[in-house]
Amino acid sequence: MRFLTADYLYSLSVSPIKQGVLQISDKGEVISIFENRNEVPQDKLEIFEGIICPGFVNVHCHLELSHLLGKAEKGKGFLDFVGTVQQRNKYTPEEIQVAIEKAEKQMISNGIVGVGDICNTNDTLLQKQKGNLKYYNFIETFGVHEHKIDVVFSQVSDLRKEFRNAGQKATIVPHAPYSVPPKLMSKIANSFDRNDELFTIHNQEAKEENELFVNKNGKFFDWLNSIKASSSIWLNRDKSIDILDELDNTKMLLVHNTFAKKEDITADYYCTCPKANLYIENTLPDYSIFDVSKLCVGTDSLASNDSLSILEELLVIQENSNFDMSTLLKIACKNGAEALGFESLGAFEKGKIPGVNLIVNFEKNIVKKLI
Ligand SMILES: [Zn+2]
Repeated sequence: MRFLTADYLYSLSVSPIKQGVLQISDKGEVISIFENRNEVPQDKLEIFEGIICPGFVNVHCHLELSHLLGKAEKGKGFLDFVGTVQQRNKYTPEEIQVAIEKAEKQMISNGIVGVGDICNTNDTLLQKQKGNLKYYNFIETFGVHEHKIDVVFSQVSDLRKEFRNAGQKATIVPHAPYSVPPKLMSKIANSFDRNDELFTIHNQEAKEENELFVNKNGKFFDWLNSIKASSSIWLNRDKSIDILDELDNTKMLLVHNTFAKKEDITADYYCTCPKANLYIENTLPDYSIFDVSKLCVGTDSLASNDSLSILEELLVIQENSNFDMSTLLKIACKNGAEALGFESLGAFEKGKIPGVNLIVNFEKNIVKKLI
């Protein structure tokens, strides 16, 4: 049994407690919270400087792209970035595995306990089976040609099966509104077979995505035409978020939303990846448009970020919003755990096993994992 205390304790269920104490079992299960250090056995009290908060939840990552660290040039825009990701297979399986293992280690040392991870391959499966972190695997569908829908769908179905057979949580999701025609979208929607499934999609990451749907022109339009994409992708939709209507009442998490307007914000959850947005588009979302109880944060991949650190993402959000520390930490822990359905994570509540982080210095990005 441990009694942990610091300058502030953020349970994220109640208001922050100055010098509050967290009682936690050796296995990391929350037993109780005390408002006063005098209420607990003094010889057992472990006193730290800083803020104690639950483990972070990284809602959007692509662990399998970790070997592309530093390969994409910064600020070149989304289509240039796509070109880099298409080089992903030029590497040996060993290089890919080493990068995956290293990236996971980095997440752990940065206090991350749960991850929403996009998968196009089974490259990460071996590492995930070690059980170091909790993963929700989103099996990504990218298929712009209507005549190839059945082939694409059977590939993602097989991959989902492989992840599920390995004991991993896995759901088939579309890549983005511009990369999945309505017919494929409806196949994906019909593939949901568990009632706790979450649907996630990259949304309004680049301004060209809005141009494609609203004006039916621009760089995305030209690119999709050059690869002979089915025109039903843009002809049947007037806005990116029209895909929400194609998916009934599924629980939805929209990722990026860099070019979203207030009237676009109608889904259940939103994930921001500020450092990746700065890396690729050199732009950030307007944080004032979001309902902060539904906002989560993700690192995106090492192809579009130089680190996998939720605290670093929070620093960027803080500099570009009026969110206080409670709000920032809810975005980093509680909201993400709720979105991904990780019931044991996200807050210091009796019975949960959420991990324990000590933020030694927020501005200097120093976090230590206590449990
Ligand atoms: Zn992504």
